[in-house]
Amino acid sequence: MENTDVIIIGAGATGLMAAYTLGKAGKKVIVLEARNRAGGRIHTIDDASFINHAELGAEFVHGNLPVTLKLLKEAGITYASAHGEMWHYDKGEFDKEFQQVEGWDMLMRKLNELQQDTSIGVFLEQQFAGEKYRHLKESVRKYVSGYDTADPFMASALALRKEWQNEDEDAQYRIHGGYGRMINYLANESQVNGAQLFLNTTVKEIYWENRHVEVIAADGVSYRAQKVIIALPLGVLQANGAVNFSPSVPLYQEAIRQMGFGSIIKVLLEFKNAFWEDEEAAKLAGSSLKEMGFLLSDEEIPTWWTQFPEHSTLLTGWLGGPPAAEKKDTSDEEILRQGLQSLANIFKRNMEDLKTDLTAWKVVNWTADPFTRGSYAYDTVAAPEARKILTNPVNHTIYFAGEYLYEGPAMGTVEAALTSGMEVARELL
Ligand SMILES: Cc1cc2nc3c(=O)[nH]c(=O)nc-3n(C[C@H](O)[C@H](O)[C@H](O)COP(=O)(O)OP(=O)(O)OC[C@H]3O[C@@H](n4cnc5c(N)ncnc54)[C@H](O)[C@@H]3O)c2cc1C
Repeated sequence: MENTDVIIIGAGATGLMAAYTLGKAGKKVIVLEARNRAGGRIHTIDDASFINHAELGAEFVHGNLPVTLKLLKEAGITYASAHGEMWHYDKGEFDKEFQQVEGWDMLMRKLNELQQDTSIGVFLEQQFAGEKYRHLKESVRKYVSGYDTADPFMASALALRKEWQNEDEDAQYRIHGGYGRMINYLANESQVNGAQLFLNTTVKEIYWENRHVEVIAADGVSYRAQKVIIALPLGVLQANGAVNFSPSVPLYQEAIRQMGFGSIIKVLLEFKNAFWEDEEAAKLAGSSLKEMGFLLSDEEIPTWWTQFPEHSTLLTGWLGGPPAAEKKDTSDEEILRQGLQSLANIFKRNMEDLKTDLTAWKVVNWTADPFTRGSYAYDTVAAPEARKILTNPVNHTIYFAGEYLYEGPAMGTVEAALTSGMEVARELL
């Protein structure tokens, strides 16, 4: 039996930021983590025998985000712009000057007039009825599904309006050495300040009363503290029976159910050569693709990106939203085949040749992962009210934290997780 001031469940960016903040303030902390590593949805791999360097989860810093950039500076970790050309491929045509959603200005005008929230799917049906807007509606739905990894018929139109008004496409960075360095920094600093991190410890039960908790792990070991921070992914909290509270906290459980959690599959393919940079690809596109950052398409695995400005032989595929949820139980081999077929269609190559040229591959199906069960949060119409409930601790004893509880423009990001972790620690202090 371990005793401490605060137990934190989950060693992702949220949990570690909370541990780091509490440790600095002199609190005794135990962090319980189900996996054999810290980081959660941050998972940088550095393995010369496999893909030399890759992010299996979070990869970009989406803007000039204050908490993330301050932490990187403090840790002495540098970062660089990840800006590259954005290409589009559709029915045999490559296009660099395309507009992701034709009619964007009209869409934003209508959205700016919206008073009463509804889902973006319903909003589109109401405001853009009829066949002449079919393309607009489809492209907005694809964008919401691909980028926000959300179900358009669940995602709040007002929340998306706020996100789209704040978008700064130029500010996009990659961290030198990957997000994993930031996780190592937080874990090391927390441990220097006395935090204990227990890996391979899956929490199953949380017994609680006023200012006392007992947390039981799957191996039967129990941990006691005055308070507990639940820094678990929303997907895990939404799954029946993954973690049980005793006595139950029905108001909080209902709030958890009302929030939105998306789906994602990331496909990493490393080839012998960066074929998208060769002459054949340039001929197809009508100009060189050597500076291509992103490539968007309507293929089964629709979105791809390179490591530009670094020239590498790694291509990353991305499938988000309901189509990713539908493939939750599809085998990695089949998703690999669909990824290769998508690239073969776009670059007019033979799929078997592309397969032969693969040097390493990895399908990361985060939706099927029992310790994540999805991608990241998005706002439903009910989310603001639910968030109010969840950010109010249960009897000064149970504190919820996570990217899904962040209120600000960088929804669903590492910034959101760090901010929530920092805020929950301050609240608890
Ligand atoms: C594929 C993908 C790409 C992304 N890309 C970006 C990006 O480019 N930029 C960006 O800013 N954000 C990105 N994100 C979002 C970002 O990764 C998350 O918002 C952030 O990392 C969430 O941190 P967290 O600590 O709240 O949750 P998590 O990182 O999920 O941490 C929760 C922890 O709880 C653990 N856990 C689960 N169940 C139990 C249990 N029963 N007992 C104990 N521990 C448990 C998990 O193993 C995990 O370590 C991406 C996410 C995904 C999935």
